Amino acid sequence: MSENNEMAYKVGIDLGGTKIECILLNNKNEEVWRKRVLTEQEKGYSAILEKIWSIYNDAVLQIDNKDHTLGIGIPGIISNITGVIKNSNTLCLNKKPFKQDIVHMVKHDINIQNDANCFTYAEAKLGAGVNKNLVFGVIMGTGCGGGISINGNIHLGIQGIAGEWGHMQINPEGPECYCGKKGCVETYISGGGLQRLFENRFGTRKTIQEIILGFRNGNPSCREIFLGFLESFGIALSNLINILDPDIVVLGGGLSNIDELYTIGKDEVKKNIFSDRFETPIVKNMLGDSSGVLGAALIGI
Ligand SMILES: [Zn+2]
Repeated sequence: MSENNEMAYKVGIDLGGTKIECILLNNKNEEVWRKRVLTEQEKGYSAILEKIWSIYNDAVLQIDNKDHTLGIGIPGIISNITGVIKNSNTLCLNKKPFKQDIVHMVKHDINIQNDANCFTYAEAKLGAGVNKNLVFGVIMGTGCGGGISINGNIHLGIQGIAGEWGHMQINPEGPECYCGKKGCVETYISGGGLQRLFENRFGTRKTIQEIILGFRNGNPSCREIFLGFLESFGIALSNLINILDPDIVVLGGGLSNIDELYTIGKDEVKKNIFSDRFETPIVKNMLGDSSGVLGAALIGI
């Protein structure tokens, strides 16, 4: 086993709702190899385990099974009491003894962390949050998650839920969330949330891209929904900043590419900040799509 072995290779696996990605790093954190497969969560939990086992074997084959660390990022949290997954929007993972099952298959120690924590850790170590003491990482993709890095370490919290702002309620009368509550941040400022808000309001479906382009071209219905989205972003993020006052906020996930988040969105945050000055940098991630899988590799044991 290779805990704290700086000479070892690092295998990182990012388990997402749509894809499973694996990366192999050398001891200088340089990428040696990478592979992606579809998660196909509709095939169920056992099929996901088999895919992880297969992609892990592909990775260690590249290095003739030499000494390596292993880390996995998951959508959800490993309960520190029961050891099973909770709070995952990839629903077939919930209540499953994922860690035990993976260790049993791969016969290697493993560190498993929430995907937003992996993202935040990678950005704090190698990306936009380098040299910042308190980094709040946000993932706005299919869902909405977050992680907190303090002095280069992930802050997990007593329940392991630190940074999980996606299920902070911003409207008790809002849309229903898979978690059982209504009006969670995730129902407003995730990709799925944005599309559902449009559909519920106007009865037709539009892609996120269509809504954004519609807004930019002055389409009134797109404008209403998209400005509402930016307003919700401002409310949710200002609540967070008012509590945590981080040195930087790093945005990741597909929605982090929306330019208006850094202009109109930032102004919406400023409106709700409990301070006469607002200097918190709100920036796009530096590691792009790779931050999750890089973080998984970096947390490995
Ligand atoms: Zn929720």
